[in-house]
Amino acid sequence: MGTEKPPNQYTSKTVAKQLRIEHLGITNFLKDYPRMRIMDADATNITLEGSFNFTGSHKEFGVITDAYQIQIIVPYCFPHGLPEVYETDGKIPRIKEFHVNPTGSLCLGSRLRLLKIISMTPNLCGYAKYCIVPYLFAVSEKLNTGKGLVFGELRHGTEGELEDYKGMFGLETHEQSELAFSYLGMKRRHANKHLCPCGCGRRLGLCDFRNTLDKYRELAPNRWFRENCP
Ligand SMILES: [Zn+2]
Repeated sequence: MGTEKPPNQYTSKTVAKQLRIEHLGITNFLKDYPRMRIMDADATNITLEGSFNFTGSHKEFGVITDAYQIQIIVPYCFPHGLPEVYETDGKIPRIKEFHVNPTGSLCLGSRLRLLKIISMTPNLCGYAKYCIVPYLFAVSEKLNTGKGLVFGELRHGTEGELEDYKGMFGLETHEQSELAFSYLGMKRRHANKHLCPCGCGRRLGLCDFRNTLDKYRELAPNRWFRENCP
């Protein structure tokens, strides 16, 4: 019988792309958000673009249906790395009151908080539902009423991140949170030799606080914490 040709480069690239699309949950995402589409796929990211139509609800602020033109850059390491989201139409003022970063990306929350939220529904639909929609809901509410963003837990900038991490780690100060975060960038056995950030005066390895840090270690590799320290 005929010999089967080995897959040529084009075919294996196409297969690799399709596997990544499935792995990231993009097929289901495009079912939920049919006006979004795949625009590009390079060596590290897949870029989605289009109209993001959503309906969100809040017990106090009711139901909002709205749409934004957005671009989502999804790294292949998702959910152990965060996507970046840009609004492309200029509907959202590019100022910090609207939680827009200096780079123009939307600040959907502190980075470790987002990673934790994603870990509970680790696919792109979960990211859209629990990270993008709450942010856009709050922006629509602010654009409609002129009042502050409705979700008080949305933080912005370094101070906002450290404030959030203080709560997440159960620590007292920003300095302690910064130290704890830096330990997540180290291998566990190295971090355990350092002074515990909780203020107990012992080595981390001798304090129960190490268990708190271990929970966050599961969310991403050490490198992520080194690259995303506040
Ligand atoms: Zn301690």
